[in-house]
Amino acid sequence: AKSDTSSSYRLYDADIKDTRAERRALEGALRNAHDNGEFELFYQPILDLATNRMWGCEALVRWKHPSKGMISPLQFVPAAEESGLIGPIGDWILEDACATAMSWEQPLKVAVNLSPVQFRNRDVFASVKKALDISGMPAQRLVLEITESVKLTEEATATLKRLKALGVSIALDDFGTGYASMSYLRSFPFDKIKIDQSFVRSMLDSSDSRAIIKATIGLAKDLRMSTTAEGVETEEQLNALRLAGASQAQGYLIAKPMPREAIAAFIADAQKP
Ligand code: C2E
Ligand code: CA
Ligand code: CA
Ligand code: CA
Repeated sequence: AKSDTSSSYRLYDADIKDTRAERRALEGALRNAHDNGEFELFYQPILDLATNRMWGCEALVRWKHPSKGMISPLQFVPAAEESGLIGPIGDWILEDACATAMSWEQPLKVAVNLSPVQFRNRDVFASVKKALDISGMPAQRLVLEITESVKLTEEATATLKRLKALGVSIALDDFGTGYASMSYLRSFPFDKIKIDQSFVRSMLDSSDSRAIIKATIGLAKDLRMSTTAEGVETEEQLNALRLAGASQAQGYLIAKPMPREAIAAFIADAQKP
């Protein structure tokens, strides 16, 4: 990880020291945050379009900073990855997500994001197995979301296959935004494709986006995979996705990510007739 940072920062000679010092300070703060339990998982509901009921939730990490307030993962996950701290933090995320899901009134799915660095520095299989064992959650309820930035080496592929054999599902996140979506799809039997929110956002104005969404859903069906459309913010988008045959929808229209207590109440409410 260290060599990665130094090579990418070499381009910016002038502020190289600042950037490095800042990065080191952030890494120190992240280490403290982990030790002090400042990370918190929020959960965003995912709607099953066939039944119109809740299908599950995606766990999304936040940093509850004592003075700066809630910090977005976009602002600290990259530093956690570069410092390798995503290893222990990622283990905590898996364990907390499974334990939380076990406290819900319905046995819904819980989706957890995995970083490529966890595949490089961590025994992902052991981490997942431990989270399942400690929580007692059935593997069938766990969905792991990876992006094509996870290099599907022989080792990573073997890990994912062992997880699938346990009953865990594997989803391909941010589909369509990378360079290799198609060949990536061919290299592993994913259970689910998550259609990136950029396509959903533009689908009502752009026939190209609609065509891509339609083709992705068709492709997923032919490959016996389900699809979740992300970033659904309007009824119009939801209706169009329903018509296009998406399996699930996730987005602010349904609900924003929310803390543990709020999602428990949301799930309990969703169950009432
Ligand atoms: P992602 O996995 O693609 O997560 C979806 C992001 O879209 C979340 O942002 C979510 O809050 C946001 N979102 C959901 N619905 C809507 C919507 O209708 N409109 C808009 N504009 N946004 C919506 P968030 O929570 O800020 O997370 C950002 C990214 O950080 C995630 O993208 C993921 O790549 C990463 N991340 C989050 N949690 C974790 C984690 O636990 N582990 C790892 N390794 N990465 C994480
Ligand atoms: Ca995700
Ligand atoms: Ca995504
Ligand atoms: Ca993303």
